[in-house]
Amino acid sequence: MDIELAQGDITTWRVDAIVNAANHTLLGGGGVDGAIHRAGGRAIVEECRLLRADRYPEGLPTGEAVATTAGDLPARWVIHTVGPTWAKTTDKSELLRSCYRTSLAVADEIGAATVAFPLVSAGVYRWPKEDAIVQALTTLGSTPTAVRTATLVLYDEPTYRLAEQVAARLA
Ligand code: ADP
Repeated sequence: MDIELAQGDITTWRVDAIVNAANHTLLGGGGVDGAIHRAGGRAIVEECRLLRADRYPEGLPTGEAVATTAGDLPARWVIHTVGPTWAKTTDKSELLRSCYRTSLAVADEIGAATVAFPLVSAGVYRWPKEDAIVQALTTLGSTPTAVRTATLVLYDEPTYRLAEQVAARLA
């Protein structure tokens, strides 16, 4: 799988699937979740509501992933995954890595060949950006998948530059 870095708003990405750093309720939230729900429109909201009612009455567990259609977005699917909140005293990196692994597994199930990821947990959930990038790149690079291209989409310029530095260090 090719792993690419890009900067911008993931809701504009023309790929088979974009990944959402979702809220476990699946009912929308702030950050990239809010942006995806707003730009995707009613189809995503409705499908998430049904998934919550039928399949995940307790909410989508942290580290797991599930796909919906993408409504008005240029992408065909949205893969919702719930990242862990950052905690100084507990190492939750296995859960963060699980978000990338399970999202790729869901991409394989739906036949998505191109997938764009946000930097899961690095916003409202306060995961330090540099480590979030390390976890994202190392997990994407070590997970067997039929996905052809994974793009890590960094929202702002400083985080994009940081990701370039981390990628160069890991290469
Ligand atoms: P979490 O709750 O998992 O921390 P957030 O949405 O708060 O999720 O943040 C995850 C990352 O997504 C952050 O690095 C944030 O800067 C980034 N982000 C927010 N909006 C967008 C967007 N429209 N496109 C791409 N990345 C975004």
